[in-house]
This record gives sequence, C-alpha cells and structure tokens, in this order.
Amino acid sequence: MPRRNELEHKALHVIVNNGNDGVLQSELWRKLDATSREGSRIALKLETKDLIRREKELYEGRWTYRLFPKRKPASLNSIINSPCLMCSNDARCGAWSTISPNECQKMTQWLLDLAKGETESSGEI
Ligand code: SF4
Repeated sequence: MPRRNELEHKALHVIVNNGNDGVLQSELWRKLDATSREGSRIALKLETKDLIRREKELYEGRWTYRLFPKRKPASLNSIINSPCLMCSNDARCGAWSTISPNECQKMTQWLLDLAKGETESSGEI
C-alpha cells in the first residue's frame, strides 16, 4: 500500500532527525497528517523492523510513546580522527585494490581503539 509505505518512510525520517530528543507519537502523526490508528500501526511496524524504540511517557495527563531512532546517521565527528583523512594512499586505496582497508594496519588500529573506547564508556570490558 503506497500511502502506508510513504508514511512509514516519512515517519522514520522525522524520528531520525529528532535524534536523542525523540518525538512524541501524537506530535509525529500531526506533522505527517496521519490518523492516530495509522500512526500506531506504523510505529509498531518500525519497531518490529528494529528501526526505532518506543518509550512510554505521560504527556499532559495521557500515556503516549516517545519514538527514538535505533540508528543515527553518521556525523562528521565520527570520522574526524580516521587515518584515511590524512593518508597519502587515499586515492589508491579501495576494497579491491592492492592497497586496501581490509589489510590496513592504521585502519585496524583505529577501529580497535574506537571499539575499546565504546566498550569502556558503556562499562563493558
Ligand atoms: S584504509 Fe589505510 S591505506 Fe586506505 S586510505 Fe585509509 S589509512 Fe590509507
């Protein structure tokens, strides 16, 4: 059904753009000009696809859900320390080239450091 797919796509776009603030379900449907029934179905579908998470929230005396994206678009900050940005082999490097990120020690080390940092900040070790 094209309208539902289109709404699903638009809803995900709004949710992702709101990032960590999330968006109230009722607010989202107003923005998309959808009924609350359509909206609830779409939110459940997006959650089932593991694209969003819903958190129950009391808003103006009524229970609703705040919707958060599970994946966020990559930001420039996430790659600012990448070794590729200052690499003299950048133009010759590619997945199928003789110089490849698959074999690059600098890339491997950078990814290991990133993973280590994330593990330590989440309390996992
Ligand atoms: S993957 Fe390694 S060799 Fe390739 S551009 Fe990045 S740092 Fe350079």
